[in-house]
Amino acid sequence: MDTEMLVGGRFLDGEGAAQDVLNPKTGAVVTSLAEASAPQVEAAVAAAARAFEKWSATTPAERSGYLLRIADAIEADADGFAALESLNCGKPINAVRNDELPAIVDCWRFFAGAVRALHGPVAAEYLPGHTSMIRRDPLGIVGSIAPWNYPLMMMTWKLAPALAGGNTVVFKPSELTPLTALKMARLLSGILPEGVINIVLGRGETVGNAIISHPAVDMVSITGDIATGKKVLAAAAGTVKRTHLELGGKAPVIVYDDADIDAVVQGIRTFGYYNAGQDCTAACRLYVQDAVYETLVADLSAAVSTLAYDRPDDTENELGPLISRRQRDRVESFVARAAEQKHIEIATGGAVAGGEGFFFQPTVVAGARQDDEIVRREVFGPVVSVTRFSDAEQAVAWANDSDYGLASSIWTKDVSRAMRTASRLRYGCTWINTHFMLASEMPHGGLKQSGYGKDMSVYALEDYTAVRHVMIAHG
Ligand code: NAD
Repeated sequence: MDTEMLVGGRFLDGEGAAQDVLNPKTGAVVTSLAEASAPQVEAAVAAAARAFEKWSATTPAERSGYLLRIADAIEADADGFAALESLNCGKPINAVRNDELPAIVDCWRFFAGAVRALHGPVAAEYLPGHTSMIRRDPLGIVGSIAPWNYPLMMMTWKLAPALAGGNTVVFKPSELTPLTALKMARLLSGILPEGVINIVLGRGETVGNAIISHPAVDMVSITGDIATGKKVLAAAAGTVKRTHLELGGKAPVIVYDDADIDAVVQGIRTFGYYNAGQDCTAACRLYVQDAVYETLVADLSAAVSTLAYDRPDDTENELGPLISRRQRDRVESFVARAAEQKHIEIATGGAVAGGEGFFFQPTVVAGARQDDEIVRREVFGPVVSVTRFSDAEQAVAWANDSDYGLASSIWTKDVSRAMRTASRLRYGCTWINTHFMLASEMPHGGLKQSGYGKDMSVYALEDYTAVRHVMIAHG
């Protein structure tokens, strides 16, 4: 197992406080890793600054070549990455190996292609005697900070466009899930020039804070909690940094009375509970029209109660534990408070599952109302609420009545109804008759307090580069 950070092409142990890394399935300590000291963070930023001049001068074709080699190397060791991610996050091995790893490899390949195909306004004489052209240049050093729910995928979403755009990076994984980032450090150092990528370990309030407040860091990209995003914005104000914020979600799912209920049930059974619901796009907030409400609650509860999570043979499991005891306790307390409400019925699940790991039963909370905490706040666990509605106006108003604005879905057989509703939802993504599906070519990112800036797609490449105008006076 790789345990060392990567700073300026050198592998080193942290000099700061040590943190245990746990296996969430058993609660056992996998290893203990020391975080970076303040001088080590300084050294990482200095190395990124030194590497910037040469890296930013490489051609798109050269950078594309590096990204393709990275994709190939991950693909060649996909089983190793999958096993490590599964160990550190508790994810079922099949989910990481068959869903996440191919998407990760594809994302590196997408940006390898996209950086060679950027286009924009034409160079021309917009003033007589002057030729104008647009450049798209790197920003400089990107401070990049990832969460624990998809460690390797979030690392990919951040590094691939940043590196493709010609930036150098100081990356910090979540203190809970550093293992695949350290394995990536070995892989990347064998491919990229020294200092282009630096990987430091540590907690948010220490190492994270040192990165986001560093005057030499030009851009901060973070995926995490809204509260963390606000801290990034406050720190970024000090030196007016560009920020890229992906800050959680509470996805509304509108189920009209003409929807294919079997498809809804199968869809929510998968997309509401994938990664144990620790997903910012999870289909967790259902609004179901009167006529189909009772059927949907009954069928969904029956389907959810069959989700496999505690089988000794992990290849049979469909979801894993929560990431930590703290996260599991948080989920438990949300469900306990919901259960105290007279109008709420815990239709299935609702309790901590046995054993030493951080498991929580897949849960359906029926009869929830718009003002209930379980409808308004991000639970980030295997918990789906179901709320009854009568007319479309009410459903759209309730769906939009949220601090979050990341993802949403609509289920109906009526195309006009679907398009009318989609045009009114204030979410970065709206799926129709599905949920959760992502493509490297399409943007992922939020509105409102879910943050701004896009992952994947050419829009991410635009976020990680600066538009510049060059004008030549030639008479
Ligand atoms: P978190 O905000 O606690 O931590 C995210 C990262 O930020 C970690 O690496 C952490 O160390 C760091 N951090 C924390 N405080 C910091 C500070 N003061 N300065 C600098 N860095 C700091 O979030 P989490 O618990 O790791 O992840 C769960 C959250 O992430 C959820 O709210 C979830 O919805 C969100 N999320 C959003 C998306 C998205 O695409 N919008 C994707 C995944 C997760």
